[in-house]
Amino acid sequence: MEKKFVNKTGGCICGAVKFNVTLDELPRVFSCHCIDCRKKIGGIMSIIELRKDAIDINKSLLSTFEHIGGSGNKITKYFCGKCAAPVLTYVERWNKFYLYAGLLDDISILKKSKNIYYEESHFPFMEISEKNLKT
Ligand SMILES: [Zn+2]
Ligand SMILES: [Zn+2]
Repeated sequence: MEKKFVNKTGGCICGAVKFNVTLDELPRVFSCHCIDCRKKIGGIMSIIELRKDAIDINKSLLSTFEHIGGSGNKITKYFCGKCAAPVLTYVERWNKFYLYAGLLDDISILKKSKNIYYEESHFPFMEISEKNLKT
């Protein structure tokens, strides 16, 4: 079956950062509960795995923060230099960019997400399995 792609727009809360992105019709979405993500954005975060060159964005508007993740991988976080909204995460080991899902203007295609790193760290008020999340 032929892959279908969709074009979406998005941006940060202050509007300084705007982008166009090409996503699979059923994008790969991960909801990460690890301590790094929790500390970075203050809660659960959902990211979309991007194909190479899938996003059209002016990276000069983004600030970066590099760190070594719990997995030992070098990770670069990209965020709006003005409002600090998280925009992209780059994982060197996979050579892949991930887009923070909430920055899409239209989130209707995000129908499935895989929960990751919930075994080690998640809010006790949530019940989590690989496929589901309940509050
Ligand atoms: Zn994480
Ligand atoms: Zn902003």
